Amino acid sequence: MLPDAEPYSEAWLQGILDALCDLSSKDALTGLVNRRSFEMALAREVDRVARSGEPALLLVLDIDHFKAVNDTHGHAAGDQVIRAVAQSIGQTVRPMDTVARIGGEEFAIILPNCPTSVGVTVAERIRQRVQELAVSVGNGQPPLTCTISIGGAFAPQWVRSSTLIWTERADRQLYRAKAEGRNRACLESHVDSLVSAEEKGLLFAVTQQDSE
Ligand code: GH3
Ligand code: MG
Ligand code: MG
Repeated sequence: MLPDAEPYSEAWLQGILDALCDLSSKDALTGLVNRRSFEMALAREVDRVARSGEPALLLVLDIDHFKAVNDTHGHAAGDQVIRAVAQSIGQTVRPMDTVARIGGEEFAIILPNCPTSVGVTVAERIRQRVQELAVSVGNGQPPLTCTISIGGAFAPQWVRSSTLIWTERADRQLYRAKAEGRNRACLESHVDSLVSAEEKGLLFAVTQQDSE
């Protein structure tokens, strides 16, 4: 949509730039971050974890038996379910978390600075919240319900990993959640590493020397 400002004014140009930025980074159906933008955010997070040693969690989410929703209620109703799930995921996480739609009925969330216990609680809260959704699809149909399966993996702290390896590990947990019956969250077991402030200082000192 064209910005509502004097054509060619600074505000107008800024409006055009903002709209282009939204188009290239957001998913049109849900308004969430799109796959391309998600991949860039994940690469930044891999970098950040290796530098700070803070625990970070990647969750991948997939709507259960979604094909049946389309087949029974139509594609438009399916779209409404995807939108409702997207909205409720967005409302369940912190503003600092990145929520993306990475495929048809697949989502991913990057949770920076997320200790193990918090990760398990957040994943379970999202699962529960989606289960409680009643999506109105109109046409006199009763509201639709759905469930999601969630897989999660933590980034290895203090080690530079790749986005591909991290995603594959989270995906493996998603397959496990599906295989174990769906409507559940499976997180790779992980122990938060305890690195003292002194040790962190040593690690950074080495990095600085290396770069000199
Ligand atoms: P599972 O529990 O194993 O995930 O089963 P599923 O039926 O959800 O899995 P599957 O991957 O077979 O089905 C996904 C379906 O999502 C198939 C496709 O038609 C539908 N789909 C993909 N993108 C969209 C979309 O943008 N809108 C709608 N309405 N449907 C979509
Ligand atoms: Mg799928
Ligand atoms: Mg599915």
